[in-house]
Amino acid sequence: MPGQMAGGGCIFCNIARGEAPAHIVYEDDSVAVFLDIYPVEKGHLLVIPRSHYESVADAPPRVAARVFATAAALARLYREALGAPGVNVVANSGRPAGQEVFHFHVHVIPRWRGGGWRTLFMRHRLTEDEAREVLEMWRPLRGSIGEYVRGAFMPG
Ligand SMILES: [Zn+2]
Repeated sequence: MPGQMAGGGCIFCNIARGEAPAHIVYEDDSVAVFLDIYPVEKGHLLVIPRSHYESVADAPPRVAARVFATAAALARLYREALGAPGVNVVANSGRPAGQEVFHFHVHVIPRWRGGGWRTLFMRHRLTEDEAREVLEMWRPLRGSIGEYVRGAFMPG
């Protein structure tokens, strides 16, 4: 696989392969979506490609498009189905930009109340109760995520 890291040293590759624990909200043949263990707000998700690229700037266009289409689906469902009045969709590329894990990922952060950018870096440790609540919230919407993403990649 192009760019695949040798030796299993990448935590997000391990999650994508099911070899490291994560609270998976959604997955298909090219992406996985799981809960950030240091959420900014309840429901903070990460979208990753299954294949390893260091950041958004390193991923080929098709991979970047697939990851962002998935993030867009999550943002839409947060707004329209789950009642979040706002959503941040953010990709950090490089350490100076705040990237901490060097496997391309996009943050999807629902905003249940105001605060926006001012609270973007105030994080807490994910609890099991919170994780369960978020997984329950997304369970009935998994099909809608796949439908949206497939639609984005159909001709016309
Ligand atoms: Zn990786």
